[in-house]
Amino acid sequence: MAVRYSYLKEQFENCPELWDELKNFVSTGDFTLGEPLARFEVNFSKLIKSKYAIGVGSGTDAIKLSLVALGIKPGDEVITAANTFVATVGAICEIGAIPVFVDADKNFCMDTNSIEKKITSKTKAIVPVHFTGYMADMISVLNIAKRYNLIVVEDACQSILANIDGKNAGTWGNAGAFSLHPLKNINVWSDGGVIVTDDENLYKKLQLLRNHGLSDRDTVQILGYNSRLDTFQAIVGSWLLPKAVEISDKRISNAKYLDENLSTISQITIPDRPKNMRVVYHIYSVFAENRDGLLEFCKSKNIQAKIHYPVPIYKQIPVKKYSKGEIFPNSDWLAENSISFPCDQHLDENHLNEIILTCKEFYNK
Ligand SMILES: *Cc1c(COP(=O)(O)O)cnc(C)c1O
Repeated sequence: MAVRYSYLKEQFENCPELWDELKNFVSTGDFTLGEPLARFEVNFSKLIKSKYAIGVGSGTDAIKLSLVALGIKPGDEVITAANTFVATVGAICEIGAIPVFVDADKNFCMDTNSIEKKITSKTKAIVPVHFTGYMADMISVLNIAKRYNLIVVEDACQSILANIDGKNAGTWGNAGAFSLHPLKNINVWSDGGVIVTDDENLYKKLQLLRNHGLSDRDTVQILGYNSRLDTFQAIVGSWLLPKAVEISDKRISNAKYLDENLSTISQITIPDRPKNMRVVYHIYSVFAENRDGLLEFCKSKNIQAKIHYPVPIYKQIPVKKYSKGEIFPNSDWLAENSISFPCDQHLDENHLNEIILTCKEFYNK
């Protein structure tokens, strides 16, 4: 039996009530900003337990606009993870700021013990990345930020509804950035992003920034961006949000089942699963001996295993000028030893058993 990675066809196969809503929406002509977006933002802030949510064009823009709104300027240094997805670094560089990397720990997120030695007089912000569904150690990040007077924008694009001691990813820093990209846990039919914050002034500034800085039709208050969350996509998002908790719960139970069974294979190591953290498994990764052999074997058996990510961002050619030859051994180790398996809400035990059996077969050869 094949086990596919992408579930997008299944996810929106049967949603007649959503189609009805979209059809009714088209006849309103309310295509920019508008009521459905405002409704989505209220729903999103309730789900995440933040005071405010602002829909923007993408997760990348959610990071970028947050940094701009919080006063980050060209030449400012922004500390982030050496092993993140390109978008985090892209958002920082797009505004002329300089990414400064810290290595990961074995839980995929930045090793917060490495932050302080990277702080200079130019450091203005930390962008911790809640990677693969884990969370960075936000208690340490906030302690350091407070001591050095730095702002914190959380890249929570991969970790919607993850939490530490019940406090959600995105609600710890000055702002939290989420992505609604089709491949993320909570997704729409195109690009989209959301910023959450409890800070009313920041909220007001972000509302201007995402819409050309227009405070009304004829008044440009600041120069901003064209980065609104598409109203059509906000309707898709509002249809999905009531299912968000169920989706992450199902991912968590699938991950638990895989953990229990894959841990019986001596060549596979399950990452630490911290008790006080709700990990939401945007990516379900484990560490495997002869990882490349296992990957090829899985592919030959139609199990769509993947590597997230084979080249750590700090080593990518356009990014090397920022890492300046520094080596980040844990980021390298993760790239060389981790393998990810499908774990989404549309899989049942038969699929998971197929993954487990295939791994066993590979190591028993
Ligand atoms: C997906 C992602 C982003 C950016 O999201 P887009 O909506 O694709 O712009 C940022 N950071 C991380 C870690 C991501 O995985």
